[in-house]
Amino acid sequence: MPFPHHLIEGYRVFLDGRLRREQDRYRELAEAGQSPEVMVIGCSDSRVSPEVIFDARPGELFVVRNVANIVPPYAPDGQAHGVSAALEFGVAALKVKHVVVLGHADCGGVKAFAENAAPLSPGDFIGHWIRLMAPAAQRVGPREKLSRPDYLTRLEQANIVNSLDNLKTFPGLRTLMERGQVAIHGAYFGVATGELWVRDETTSAFMQVAATDHARLMAKLR
Ligand SMILES: [Zn+2]
Repeated sequence: MPFPHHLIEGYRVFLDGRLRREQDRYRELAEAGQSPEVMVIGCSDSRVSPEVIFDARPGELFVVRNVANIVPPYAPDGQAHGVSAALEFGVAALKVKHVVVLGHADCGGVKAFAENAAPLSPGDFIGHWIRLMAPAAQRVGPREKLSRPDYLTRLEQANIVNSLDNLKTFPGLRTLMERGQVAIHGAYFGVATGELWVRDETTSAFMQVAATDHARLMAKLR
């Protein structure tokens, strides 16, 4: 099978658009290296690209994506840990100032955990991986009284909070947080609505940001 044609077409659009506009920036970043201030830990879901949602330029976001935006707890056990390695690099080498866990609505990984759904769970890796979400489900509690969409939304958001809790188990990051040099944040993207919700540190509730701009746009599109 050849390299997908539409990717080459997309690259042509990139050449004519973004590269044309930002060639100097790419060159500078190549010479000086990257120094992003923000690290994003997001879901691999093709609809939730942090660079698109935050309109980020090259060099602005250090991104790691995985199934269901999970941060595993700190576990220096000699095994290979992709998220932990990226976190170590982002925090210790790049010295990012913010770590954002970006979750989203309609998350297949969260759904798989909630419903133990095929074909996601019986494979070699996914079932084991999404079990890391168990403390999030505990946080949400019994689902009997909740509708399915309500339960999934709560689990998606609790899963973000669980990742934030696990970030605090990394000693290096924890020290920097205590010194006020790094802050961690939770955010939630509503895929169908395009809404962005950010977790309020004092109330722990997810609050919609830029809500007026979003409402204005929606009214225009109607
Ligand atoms: Zn997802």
